[in-house]
Amino acid sequence: EVVVLRYGHRPGRDDRMTTHVGLTARALGADRVVLPDNAGGPAETIRDITDRFGGPFEVELRADQKAAVRNFGGTVVHLTMYGEPIQTVEASIRETHRRPSADLLVVVGGEKVPWELYERADFNVAVTNQPHSEVAGLAVLLDRLFQGAELDREWVDADRRVVPMATGKRVVDAQNEVKGANNDERDDE
Ligand code: SAM
Repeated sequence: EVVVLRYGHRPGRDDRMTTHVGLTARALGADRVVLPDNAGGPAETIRDITDRFGGPFEVELRADQKAAVRNFGGTVVHLTMYGEPIQTVEASIRETHRRPSADLLVVVGGEKVPWELYERADFNVAVTNQPHSEVAGLAVLLDRLFQGAELDREWVDADRRVVPMATGKRVVDAQNEVKGANNDERDDE
């Protein structure tokens, strides 16, 4: 299982960023996102998208994030601009993940993360050593982890499915696809 943990959340200010951490985790192949328990709004949005566009994907709210990281029974990858370049550690991360039933926890911060997290992490990983965004870092990490296979993932129990096209927007009712009925359009970006 690949779990993404969003460390810290400032309600209001971080709502969009925390939502995007969850949506990116879901879209790019993680199984679950763990959010702080004050992130109920983002959790609801991510669940709503999963209900409409499919899963499986779980959203969990947890009060004690420190304990969640400390007690995680697998490999902990902490994304930080101060870490080792991803291109030098990605193979080792894939290797630990390949073991049967090996769980991986990917931690992304918001505001400052405690030093304890750097010490608990099996890998402190930088996607360049430049400051940028938890969403960008997460996307690159997941893509390197799955080596592009996440882009071909099939979605289960979706109500809607986007039909890819060069120009235009087409969303179909995934339940009635054989009939090609019930096309509708809606902006979800
Ligand atoms: N200033 C905060 C600190 O020093 O801990 C970090 C703020 S940054 C906007 C939020 C999160 O984005 C970080 O905790 C980290 O997970 C992620 N991030 C930012 N730049 C990164 C990079 N170059 N590589 C990996 N993750 C990065």
